[in-house]
Amino acid sequence: MAGFFDSKEAMDPEERAALQDACVAKMAEEGYGKAPGFRALLKGLGIEPAGIRTAADLEKLPVISREKLVQMQIAEPPYGGLKGGDADVDRVFISPGPVYEPHLSETDHLWARAYHAAGFRKGDVVVNTFSYHMVAAGLTFHGGLRSCGATVVPSGTSGTQVQVELIRDIGVTGYTGTPSFLLAIIRKAEDMGYDMRRDFRLKRACFAAEPLDPSLRELFENRYGIETYQIYGATEVGDVAFECREKSGWHVCEEVLVEIVDPATGRRTPPGEAGEVVVTRFNSVFFLMRFGTGDLSRIIEEPCGCGRTSVRIAGVLGRTGDAVKVRGMFIAPSQLESLHRRFPEINFQAAVGRSGHADVLTVRIESDEAGLRALQDRFSEAFRQTCTVKIDRFERAAPGSLSGAKRLVDERLRS
Ligand SMILES: [Zn+2]
Repeated sequence: MAGFFDSKEAMDPEERAALQDACVAKMAEEGYGKAPGFRALLKGLGIEPAGIRTAADLEKLPVISREKLVQMQIAEPPYGGLKGGDADVDRVFISPGPVYEPHLSETDHLWARAYHAAGFRKGDVVVNTFSYHMVAAGLTFHGGLRSCGATVVPSGTSGTQVQVELIRDIGVTGYTGTPSFLLAIIRKAEDMGYDMRRDFRLKRACFAAEPLDPSLRELFENRYGIETYQIYGATEVGDVAFECREKSGWHVCEEVLVEIVDPATGRRTPPGEAGEVVVTRFNSVFFLMRFGTGDLSRIIEEPCGCGRTSVRIAGVLGRTGDAVKVRGMFIAPSQLESLHRRFPEINFQAAVGRSGHADVLTVRIESDEAGLRALQDRFSEAFRQTCTVKIDRFERAAPGSLSGAKRLVDERLRS
């Protein structure tokens, strides 16, 4: 079992499948008894809890997207009736939407498998550059690193100079955050006259919330001597999958069930075909079964050289829905519609593109030069408040050119 977080990771696949069936049945039964929203969902479908006894039975339930979850929470605040009535919740996290998520547990070791597989151990000192404010990332990643024994520097969203000083002064050995922010930190360090290999002890990085471009991975590993790993999850369901030393696909965590489904039908795609990543996290707090991440992936069926027997998924291949991730944060169409309600006279479109290794958010507005100048600051501020993402640049669009166009478009090309 050397190298695994626990023996579950080497479980016989048939044993795991039986265990997952039992977890699905338990969660359906418990949710029906404790969570009024989940009970109403099953009753609406004419399904008894005993009708959900295996992982395959999950296909009887609808996929719940982030947008759908927002609607459910608006109808029945704050959790859409999906929280167990007797569940003791220590924290509430907020995602753009807004979506309110009860933290599942303080002792659930979220992200521990992922950080363990990435090699974090006691003796490591890690800067956690994810935000600790409102969102789940900062605190849950922090907990995962602690579960591996690492010391955490909660540097959060501090600027690059502060991060460089922390890495230098504390002798930081590890980084967790987005790849683009690590690149910005390295550039800053170089501007300050440092040599990453000579002057720092940073040797391991674990990325989430943003795709890792292969060229950027090569730069980190070969030029700067920093081992890189990717970890994957969502606030609604916690950690979902992670890379092992083979760096060939992402192992699905033992506490979740991943289905790859056709986004149009909610039914599983044939093995190996791409579809939406749909996640059920086994727990007794938040009865969100079949959360639709909106991410596209496919299952890798071949066994992995690391010895873990869990299913792997082939990274994130793209987005199924209209919600788009910018620098690790989702922008949902519902947010842009609420912005439109504040500026009903303005016809605009938000477009996410890529420049080098960074996401670029462009907003196109139907206006003349003077009108755009007059509007920019006020619009930028409102956009930042609503979407928690900063606009990088504005473009002027010809009158009428955006009518009927999508409010939000993803113009990044996948490699
Ligand atoms: Zn592996």
